[in-house]
Amino acid sequence: MKKYEWLLFDLDNTLTDFDTASHQAFIDLCELRLSRVFSEELYLSYKKYNTAAWEAFENNEIDTDTLRYIRFQGFCQANNIEEDYLELNAFYLDRLNHNATLKKNTIDLLEAVSKTHRLAIITNGLKENQRRCLDRLGLTAYFEIIVVSDEIGYSKPDISFFDYTFEQMGPVDKSKVIVIGDSLRSDIQGSINYGLDSIWYNEKKLINPSDIKPTFECSDILDILTMV
Ligand SMILES: [Mg+2]
Repeated sequence: MKKYEWLLFDLDNTLTDFDTASHQAFIDLCELRLSRVFSEELYLSYKKYNTAAWEAFENNEIDTDTLRYIRFQGFCQANNIEEDYLELNAFYLDRLNHNATLKKNTIDLLEAVSKTHRLAIITNGLKENQRRCLDRLGLTAYFEIIVVSDEIGYSKPDISFFDYTFEQMGPVDKSKVIVIGDSLRSDIQGSINYGLDSIWYNEKKLINPSDIKPTFECSDILDILTMV
């Protein structure tokens, strides 16, 4: 018997392979836009500034307009690159969308649960990318509700993000809702903040380095079928 009515899915690195797409988008940025030879060192440098920008955003210290700007500002200044930061951001996002792919078994999972549960996407991301990515990968029709942090001004794990999501869902008991995602800091902490159960999608079977405890954990996305 099913335990939950609603499944709230994270998108990046849960249903889509964001890491691979981001890596390729950065290679494209180097080769097609910057005329620089790609190196993992350069990519690590970008990731350092990108991660810091997203953390600042998720802590409500900056808005997404600032995020779009400062992640490439930090990267360019550290690597002696003189370019328009917002243009680089737009180019990267375009290539990110172009290179987006699904995780293995995503469609099998969604085909199954869409017959038994109500589905939502809850994603921290930029508005010019997330819905386009869902469309391009053929995912949009599976979801009754799509919540993109950049469109509403709040991000996971903020309670306001979940307040907005629940307003969209209509009346439902919290015990009938479960959050599924790969990020302990945004997905699982967000579910805890709001009093919801959660599944930590831990594909790489990492040791949980935090005291953030999910209700369930799985490394194979199809295992979710036995949990919900
Ligand atoms: Mg994610």
